[in-house]
Order: sequence, then C-alpha cells, then structure tokens
Amino acid sequence: MAPQGEYSLFEDVCKVVDYAASYLDIHPGLLEQIKLCNSVYKFHFPLKNADGSYTVIEGYRVQHSHHKLPVKGGIRYSTYVDEEEVKGLAALMTYKCALVNIPYGGAKGGVSIDPTKYNVDQLEKITRRYTAELIKKKFIGPAIDVPAPDYGTGSREMAWIVDTFEAFNPEVINAKGCVTGKPLSQHGIDGRTEATGMGVYIGIREAVSVQEDMDQLDLSPGLEGKTIIVQGLGNVGYYSAKYLQEAGAKIIGIAEWNGGIWDENGIDIDALKTYQNKNKGFKGYERGEFVEKSAELLTYPCDILVPAALENQITSENAPRIQAKIIAEAANGPVTQDAEKILLNKNILVIPDMYLNAGGVTVSYFEWLKNLSRVSFGKLEKRYDMKKYEGLLESIEKITGDSFSDEQKQLIARGASERDLVNSGLEETMVTAYHHMNGVRKEKNLKSLRIAGFIVALERIAISYTDLGIFP
Ligand code: GLU
Repeated sequence: MAPQGEYSLFEDVCKVVDYAASYLDIHPGLLEQIKLCNSVYKFHFPLKNADGSYTVIEGYRVQHSHHKLPVKGGIRYSTYVDEEEVKGLAALMTYKCALVNIPYGGAKGGVSIDPTKYNVDQLEKITRRYTAELIKKKFIGPAIDVPAPDYGTGSREMAWIVDTFEAFNPEVINAKGCVTGKPLSQHGIDGRTEATGMGVYIGIREAVSVQEDMDQLDLSPGLEGKTIIVQGLGNVGYYSAKYLQEAGAKIIGIAEWNGGIWDENGIDIDALKTYQNKNKGFKGYERGEFVEKSAELLTYPCDILVPAALENQITSENAPRIQAKIIAEAANGPVTQDAEKILLNKNILVIPDMYLNAGGVTVSYFEWLKNLSRVSFGKLEKRYDMKKYEGLLESIEKITGDSFSDEQKQLIARGASERDLVNSGLEETMVTAYHHMNGVRKEKNLKSLRIAGFIVALERIAISYTDLGIFP
C-alpha cells in the first residue's frame, strides 16, 4: 500500500500534538514553535550515467526542533520521499527522543529514489553527493545534525557519509560522531543493527506484562504463545520477529510488498529471511500459504499485529477489519489518526511508534557518545585480572549468601563487553519509558498510549524551550 495520496504524516502528527497539548498548560505561541519545522532544506543534484545521460536527484534534510542540539534522525531512500513525509518523520524524531529522554532535537533526511534501481557505484555517488550538499549548508556535523540509517539505507551508506564528512572536515576531532549506524570497522557500535528490533521486542514484552491491561484485552499476560503478524521483513521487521519468536511468541504471518506468508503452525523467521534474500520475495517458499494480496494479511486473526514497513498502512479503510488485539507500531506512522479512533473504539491497544521504535536512536546515542569520547568500549574488556577480584567476589558471596558460577566470575572480572553495555542501556530505556507513558495514560484516564506519550514528550520539550529563553 502506498503511503502517499492525500495523506500527510506531518499534519497527522500536528493533530496529535494539538490534542495532547489540551492536557497541558503550554503557551499557544510556544506550541506553534514546537510544532513547526525549524529548517527545511530541499535540493537537487545531477547524477551522470554511464551512457552520458543525467538523472536529477531530489534530496531533503529537515531539522524539526532545535530545542536540543545536535538534531538526530535517519536518512531514507524511497520513491515516497517528499517534503510532507520528511517533515512528519523529523517531527516524530523530536517527540520520540523527548519521550525516551535522549538529548537530541528531531531531524530526518531523504532521497527520492528507488535504491533497488541503482547499482552500488551509483548509490555511493548519490550518498556522497547528498552528504556534500549537507556539508555545504552545515546540515551535518557531530554537534549540529547527526543522520543514521532508515528505510532503504544501512551501515554501508553511513560509512560513505562519514568518509565524505571527514574528507571535507579534517580539523573536526570528533568527526566520527557526524553519523551513527556505521559499520563496526568504522567506529560503529556493537548491537546498533539489531537495536530497533530489540527495542520493539522489549516494548511489546513490557506492554503484555501488565496484568490489568491484558485483562482489558482478554489476553493472558506474557509473550508465550501469542500469535503475531509482522508487516515488513527488512531490518526492523526481521529482528523484531526474531526476538519475539525467541521469547516464545508464534509468528503466523509475514507481509512484504510483493506477497506474504501465512502459516498458523508458526514461521521459521531465519529460514524465510534466507529464502527472501535469495529469491527477492516469498513466492515459492515451501512452507505455509503464499498470500498474493499481502495487505490483506493485516486483517487476518492474531493477538499482535506489528507493522514494520512504512507509514499510512492502517487507515480508516482497513481499520474496521483489523482483528488483532494489540497493534505494535515498529514503523513510523503506520496507523493514521482516523484509523486510530476506530481501533480505540474497538478496544485495540496501539503501542505508538514514537515509543516502540525508539531503540534505534537510543543505541545511536550510545554510538555517538562512544565516538565523542573516542573510547572503544570493547577494548575495556580483559583489562581486569581475574585474580585481583577473587577475594572480593568471595566476600560478596559471604555477605549476600549468593554463590557465583565460574562463568559468572569470569564475566564479572572481565567487565562488561560493548554489547552488554548497549543491551542493558537499551533495556533500561525501553522499560522505564513504557511504564512512565502507561502511568500517564492511567493517571489522565486516557485510552490512547500515543496521547500519553505525546504528553510526556511535549512537557519535556516545553520546559527545555522555556529554560532556553528567546534569542535575542
Ligand atoms: N531512523 C531511525 C528512526 O526512525 C533511527 C534514527 C537514529 O538513530 O538517529 O528512529
């Protein structure tokens, strides 16, 4: 389903902000400032093709809010990229970062291309030229604006971005922090690739752990045995499905743009992903049933529906037919505001994007901190000598009555690895934010978790703007 048409993600986000603001005492002028995009940069550049012809490429970078700097958000390569989409996605980044308390303003970038139609050389040229355009206008830099991967981009593109930035800025000492989601060899961080999916899993796990909320939905608490349909088997969809499956949930449907798979016995995610990589789709996969009209899979029966592709997927058209009890927004903006009203009336719990996919930017923050401090967390490993700690561990055993296995002792002595630090930081962030947001929902007697999330975010942004004062 195409995300465009009459629909504007930015307008949808503004509508939710207005509604959430009615629960707060924010000066109308300040609210206007919060809602609008601080800077919108649209540009064009030529790509010279092998046959001598030119393709004119359209690019964007939108900085939604400067209440905290740098601003942060991914770069998307897709034919749906246009000004409204990038503005909406940039705004969502502002509210997302505020909700999970990551100290960034929101931004987003995009290039209006279908990346599958270009070869690697052309993609490298496009990415480097796009970066050069951002550098010219000071729309990138570790203290200014820090991009990351998004739909259609990954660590490969981030490596080209950091290399281009460093080439033009040899004097910037923390240049590696100009972009996150880089490969490990280019000062990325262990766990960033999986981070959004891991965050989605933690968020859903927290939501289904609340007994009274599950009672309302007539579901048992816990992930064990929950049936799940996922839309999109890209980076976010794949890792979300994988971690949910490992935690005992049953993935019974996967919808991709070119067909889906339905299997009530449970889908082997790794096997399906391997098949997809080889065959560019699910057609011919030997297990389960191939569903040609994959958008229909969203309306099949399941406990949890996880849209992990693009915005504007659940609309007033298909919302009445949704059978899931929980919709977990792994993508940005998959449920329109009109659809959400219908879903809430049907007593469906919507776990909002601004919370649920915040794992990506959270781990991006850890990567950025690592780049600024110029420390490789992994290098701290094994600096500790086990013998030094033996006496200490024995006293802890005596005092607490606990006893450590040799393996645990080794782990404690060696110190945490980079992956341990990333995962524990991500866990802490996602767990704290969920219960805070759900607490506000209950305190204000709201049905919508999204409105609760926006209330938390708006309050923080308003305080930050107010404390900043107005220049001049
Ligand atoms: N593109 C991701 C998002 O929409 C990650 C952004 C980032 O890491 O800066 O949240």
